[in-house]
Amino acid sequence: MGVSDKKMHIAENLEQVKSTFKNPDCLLVAVSKTHPPEAVMAAYEAGHRDFGENKVQELVKKQEVLPGDIRWHMIGHVQSNKVKMIAPFVHLIQGVDSVKVLRLINKEAKKCSRTISCLLQVKIAKEESKFGFEEEEIMEMIADEEIKKLGHVKIIGLMGMATNTDDEQLVRREFAGLKAFMERLRKLDLPSNFDLQELSMGMSADYVIAQEEGSTMVRIGSAIFGERNYG
Ligand SMILES: *Cc1c(COP(=O)(O)O)cnc(C)c1O
Repeated sequence: MGVSDKKMHIAENLEQVKSTFKNPDCLLVAVSKTHPPEAVMAAYEAGHRDFGENKVQELVKKQEVLPGDIRWHMIGHVQSNKVKMIAPFVHLIQGVDSVKVLRLINKEAKKCSRTISCLLQVKIAKEESKFGFEEEEIMEMIADEEIKKLGHVKIIGLMGMATNTDDEQLVRREFAGLKAFMERLRKLDLPSNFDLQELSMGMSADYVIAQEEGSTMVRIGSAIFGERNYG
């Protein structure tokens, strides 16, 4: 496929995906991991501005060569020693999975005189996933006096990944469970750096179900950019 054919497909795919949204206000984060900057530019030229990457180094490399008005979402696990590389510019860190990382984001955000928006990643899948909080851990966290002193982070919502399965009912229950958990949290007396509004759930295979269950943000890669060779 020629470069211009590919570009056309990316713009078409974006339109196609958006046309199937159950909630037209849901934010589409285009996941460009493993795809070159040219692929991001094709979506950019079609008017898209929110992009997601799951590796800090790849995110930084793309950010350096691509337009400054792109909103970069860090969607994967962030290694502690790499927080400082994205702190100056990252729009939203979606994969906050430990208090340790949250503290570090706060420290690096302070150095940049920024407040960085974050989502807490919650384990919702049946399969054993390495990253993410258990619900009880988040309950402990909001009761911890130390958390409310982290003035350079803002927790604006939750993120979750459903089990990778054809069992739609299971996927639906997992998304519904995350939505219900956020609603429970919203009724509590939360620290002032919490303002829970966003639910990031849904990928290429399950974003329609996720939107039916209350997703406000979907992270879509292969349905826009095509299959990945790695990652
Ligand atoms: C890769 C990735 C996505 C996008 O996956 P697709 O199936 O290609 O849409 C979404 N979220 C996270 C955290 C990812 O790592």
